[in-house]
Amino acid sequence: MQKVTRFLLKNFVEWTENILHLIYPNVCLVCENEISKFEKDVCGICVENLKYTAFEKYEDASSLDKLFWGRIQIEKTFAMLYFEKGNQTQTILHQIKYKGKQELGEKMGELMGQKLLVNPSNICGIDALIPVPLHLKKMHTRGYNQSEVISNGLSKILNIPTKLDFLTRIVHSESQTKKGRFMRWDNIEEAFFVNENQDNFKHIAIIDDVITTGSTLESCMKMIKEKYPEMKISVFSLAVTK
Ligand SMILES: [Zn+2]
Repeated sequence: MQKVTRFLLKNFVEWTENILHLIYPNVCLVCENEISKFEKDVCGICVENLKYTAFEKYEDASSLDKLFWGRIQIEKTFAMLYFEKGNQTQTILHQIKYKGKQELGEKMGELMGQKLLVNPSNICGIDALIPVPLHLKKMHTRGYNQSEVISNGLSKILNIPTKLDFLTRIVHSESQTKKGRFMRWDNIEEAFFVNENQDNFKHIAIIDDVITTGSTLESCMKMIKEKYPEMKISVFSLAVTK
């Protein structure tokens, strides 16, 4: 009897899934073609055809390395996708950032992890992944930090923990008189606080969603270096502008 119930239940679940699939077909967020119920968010063809940088295989300096030349010392830089206005990367970033597609963000993080592992020296000695903290106001309205979601995907593949308590974004209403040596107020949106290095990290990787001018990252890394001059810093981003 139990067997029959289980059989019926299994069939019922499958039926419901199929009917739901008919009513709300699963559509690829990039090409808008229908995708099977086994795929999610972006179809396999679109994932394959994303604008990959192939930076993970570079022996010479990449455009991302050059972006930071003369600004700050970075161990390793990596961005998986090229971002251009109107391209697939923009669609994916938009979905992750504004449309609540956290699962897609995590999937992209996993993909980044697989690319990085092509050359194990890419991640050599990294103790922790530190997502760029979201401005608190945005965190409040959006409910999650896209860089953290990407970092979680990376952590899964690289087996390096994502740490959220090392870097904090500061509320700009906080009294200016309280500002310490390790806070920077060049730009109110870019104020960070570097917390105590309780885990004794020697090498961290900052995780970002997209790098354009690199100025947010630069001020963030400068603050870390001010407080911990010996700490090595790498930067891994889902995308970089071309
Ligand atoms: Zn597609």
